[in-house]
Amino acid sequence: MKCPKCEDQQLAGAAVRGIEVDRCPRCGGIWFDVKELGALMASHPSDLKPLARGKNDDSTDARAGLCPRDQSRMIRVRSARKPTVIVETCPTCRGLWLDGGELGELLLP
Ligand SMILES: [Zn+2]
Ligand SMILES: [Zn+2]
Repeated sequence: MKCPKCEDQQLAGAAVRGIEVDRCPRCGGIWFDVKELGALMASHPSDLKPLARGKNDDSTDARAGLCPRDQSRMIRVRSARKPTVIVETCPTCRGLWLDGGELGELLLP
């Protein structure tokens, strides 16, 4: 799958507690399939910390992304977990994209 924010950049798989997530080595953004982030946040949030790289960069954040799975235009929504963080969700597959730095913000207490 390609990064929704970087041109021609393939996402790299990373396994967390047996769940495969996809991360962009360039911008630090991460793709979670539906329910993956919620499941990990509920069970082992500290295991997500090594994935939290990059910093939240407004130019990346403002760019509308297409879902890496089905190319639907993703919708920007406030995270239910932390309303100050704007994440992107796919209306088709319900997956979730976090820009670089956003996962780190979600993990802050
Ligand atoms: Zn990227
Ligand atoms: Zn999708």
